[in-house]
Amino acid sequence: MIRSILIAVLVCFSLPAIGYELSGNAIQGGMMIGRDAAGLEVTVDGKPVRVSPDGVFVFGFGRDHAETVTLTVGGDTQVISVARRDYVTQRIDGLPSKMVTPAPETLARIRAENADIAKARAFDTPETWFAQDWIWPSIGPISGVYGSQRILNGKPRRPHFGVDVAGPTGTPVVAPADGIVRFARTGLYFTGGTLILDHGHGVTSTFIHLSELTVEVGQKVIQGEKIAEIGATGRVTGPHLDWRINWFGERLDPQLLVGPMPES
Ligand SMILES: [Zn+2]
Repeated sequence: MIRSILIAVLVCFSLPAIGYELSGNAIQGGMMIGRDAAGLEVTVDGKPVRVSPDGVFVFGFGRDHAETVTLTVGGDTQVISVARRDYVTQRIDGLPSKMVTPAPETLARIRAENADIAKARAFDTPETWFAQDWIWPSIGPISGVYGSQRILNGKPRRPHFGVDVAGPTGTPVVAPADGIVRFARTGLYFTGGTLILDHGHGVTSTFIHLSELTVEVGQKVIQGEKIAEIGATGRVTGPHLDWRINWFGERLDPQLLVGPMPES
């Protein structure tokens, strides 16, 4: 169902030929990285995206992305097919009812928290840390996957956008790639202790339900460095890490970037 593809594209404008290369997953939840596009203007569905001085750019596809995306690099246009996925349904019971149907007076607070999170995901930082080989931020059993349809206490709710890694409270969480801390707060209504790392060009990681945050907003962290500890804060039934990846507002599947979970 999940297939990895590598597309190499050679684009000729005039002699000499100008080439750029694309790698990644052309699938809902996937991320694609372009290389060798130095000095070229790149748009994704008509929207300009940042190209680093050495020619790297990135874009991605949300959970329910349309069947194609139009990529323009230096005036050359190609239409890329985006593979569809089927998502599982996950039923979770035993949540406090206020976590499934918040009281009306709580909605303003939830909206304000979501607005702050959206701001933290809007940075278009020049670094290209997203192009590193990603590592798992925590090792443990995977207890929830990207995209699943959620039935909470019998009520349909928003899909799940992260990958869940079960582990006891206090288990270290490390940076899966280099980044700058853009958000670090405890006590959010749904997500509890919440940390957002900016990996460049609009790619962010979000870590939620944390018990401890061990870094501060504005801090640069390197891959493998401890940033937090697993907890059971926010809307949870037990301690786990929920790790999400965004490309701006598009929600991507972390599992497509890191590969299989190592044996613990
Ligand atoms: Zn989760």
